[in-house]
Amino acid sequence: MKSSKTPGFETRMIHAGAQPEPVTGARQTPIFQNTSYVFHDADHAASLFNLQTFGFIYSRLTNPTVAALEERLASLEGGRGTTCCASGHAAQMLVFFALMGPGDRFIASNRLYGGSITQFGKTFQKFDWQVDFVDVDDPENVRQALTPKTKAIFVESLANPGGVVSNLEALAEVAGEAGVPLVVDNTMATPYLCQPFDWGADLVVHSTTKFLSGNGTSMGGAVVDSGRFDWSASDRFPGLAAPEPAYHGLSFYETFGDMAFTMQAHAVGLRDLGATMAPMNAFQTLLGCETLSLRMERHCANAKQVAAFLESHNAVDWVSCAALPSSPYHGLAEKYLPRGAGSVFTFGVKGGYEAGVKVVEACELFSHLANIGDTRSLILHPASTTHRQLTEEQRQAAGAGPEVVRLSIGLETVDDLLADLDQALTAD
Ligand SMILES: *Cc1c(COP(=O)(O)O)cnc(C)c1O
Repeated sequence: MKSSKTPGFETRMIHAGAQPEPVTGARQTPIFQNTSYVFHDADHAASLFNLQTFGFIYSRLTNPTVAALEERLASLEGGRGTTCCASGHAAQMLVFFALMGPGDRFIASNRLYGGSITQFGKTFQKFDWQVDFVDVDDPENVRQALTPKTKAIFVESLANPGGVVSNLEALAEVAGEAGVPLVVDNTMATPYLCQPFDWGADLVVHSTTKFLSGNGTSMGGAVVDSGRFDWSASDRFPGLAAPEPAYHGLSFYETFGDMAFTMQAHAVGLRDLGATMAPMNAFQTLLGCETLSLRMERHCANAKQVAAFLESHNAVDWVSCAALPSSPYHGLAEKYLPRGAGSVFTFGVKGGYEAGVKVVEACELFSHLANIGDTRSLILHPASTTHRQLTEEQRQAAGAGPEVVRLSIGLETVDDLLADLDQALTAD
């Protein structure tokens, strides 16, 4: 008997986007390690190139393994379509490539992943895409920064690295009034902990490099579209609503409706920017999705215990973790991340820059490296690494001052993690 009820999150983690391979019956999604696909005939080829038929042409645009992951992520986020790409930064590039033209602006939180602050503030300048960084804790700041040229508002649901939670519902209201999409980087929360579309977000981006793949093996990114934004409501989004010369004057929004963004991001974004996800990486990320809920539960439980331990440690000045009642973001975390506040957080060591570097070097079980969301526990001193390119003022705003240490808590036995941090903090 077939049930019409939408399957639960855990069922979709494993089954969404994947069927047994029809020719061989292979149960796991195969790695389609090939660049191109045979056309039935010349008419078929022509209709594929005109976007009149769905199908595979060339793997820079679409690939069956990548397509399975795209469908799975759309399902997990509750979105309409997904575009996977080479990295989280490529996903951000695809979003703004679709929305912006030279001289346009967007508003972004001043507490983003350090790499995003550099990409937006420095590299995007080369396209004359201008960013206004604001403190989004007060949505009024966002309202004040709006201009007629503003094309989007960009925040992280749970911000890397400081355990900052964005008030998505309030920000979606500001975006809605302004007629621009709210874009949410949901990397640190994953769709298991936070569902930005439920709170009014229009687009979600991911670095699948982190928790979604989960083992530190595969770079990747994704843009998920809710399918709800009306790109034709104003003349601000010609890339999505105006005639596209490269496709005989087709308007993506008129032709594809709620799939307009996803079609544009493949047919123009991936076609011309070329930041395609490798099939092998899509395969690894599909495997990661299968265990997402289990891993996130353990990540969160371990992180909460480590954060509480550090908060009571003599060598520690402060802990910034939304899972702790002491966090100013604890209330927002309970609303937006009811299953747990993630596993990445920061703490301040007594003794500043030198002490921060020393703790990182003294850890034995924690790996000193620049990633998050691995099964392994990771430690980093942002001021001397990921946030090095920023000014002191930007570092402070991003929660990456000289004494700050960032942890990404893995899935090891939690007592081993506590013991390692304790010896590192008390070593001399
Ligand atoms: C890592 C990260 C990115 C960038 O992703 P890459 O896959 O490294 O390009 C963007 N946002 C957040 C929150 C991240 O943690």
